[in-house]
Amino acid sequence: MADATQRREELKAVWEQARTCTRCPQLASTRTTVVFGSGNADADLMFVGEAPGANEDKQGLPFVGQAGRLLDTLLGEIGLSRGDVFVVNVLKCRPPGNRDPLPQEIDHCQEYLFRQLELIEPRVVCTLGNFATKLLRSDPGTGITRLHGRDEIRVLGPRAVRLYPIYHPAAALYTPSMLETLRGDFARLPELLARPAPAQPEPEPDPEPVVLPEPEIVAQVAAPQQREPDQLGLF
Ligand code: URA
Repeated sequence: MADATQRREELKAVWEQARTCTRCPQLASTRTTVVFGSGNADADLMFVGEAPGANEDKQGLPFVGQAGRLLDTLLGEIGLSRGDVFVVNVLKCRPPGNRDPLPQEIDHCQEYLFRQLELIEPRVVCTLGNFATKLLRSDPGTGITRLHGRDEIRVLGPRAVRLYPIYHPAAALYTPSMLETLRGDFARLPELLARPAPAQPEPEPDPEPVVLPEPEIVAQVAAPQQREPDQLGLF
């Protein structure tokens, strides 16, 4: 586990990398800012939304528009505020016209999200809506309507977390019945946070030290035309 200072330094380094990212040429040319995420770097609870909208793109912060105000209200109802949680999105750049994220964009951007999860070490990861839920469950076939409100333990990168899919606040803005469902799912968060942290998987063992063969054998093995793909792993 990283100490708090190290965690922040490493997060800043990932932010430095993300803020000039050009992996998605269209998003890089249309965005105003990269919206990396914000909140408490030591948070036990992390929210993962979809992508910045127009307000977020202008301000460089996630969930600052109408959906963000609803998120704040729902947090307040369970006695939490933004300073208690960390909020990020699947995509760090606004898709033009708020179109859906493209599969290739999600692919390009997910490394940043996984680094954030690894560094912040939340115990509960609350996915807001389909895009975050499908990505973090690696199951594009099962949507939020079936999954909302059901927590499960998932291994994300090197760590196990309690994953908790709920509806996206933007979807609940104009549908009172969905808002009530979202409110009900939110109300379970304190109970999930009070549960013991999920058991962690065994860390990957360090690779065996490579013992170099005698020089004449190196010459033999290193000849490119004699290398098998699985042998390359030895070097
Ligand atoms: N919707 C999202 O998914 N993320 C934001 O940051 C704002 C709206």
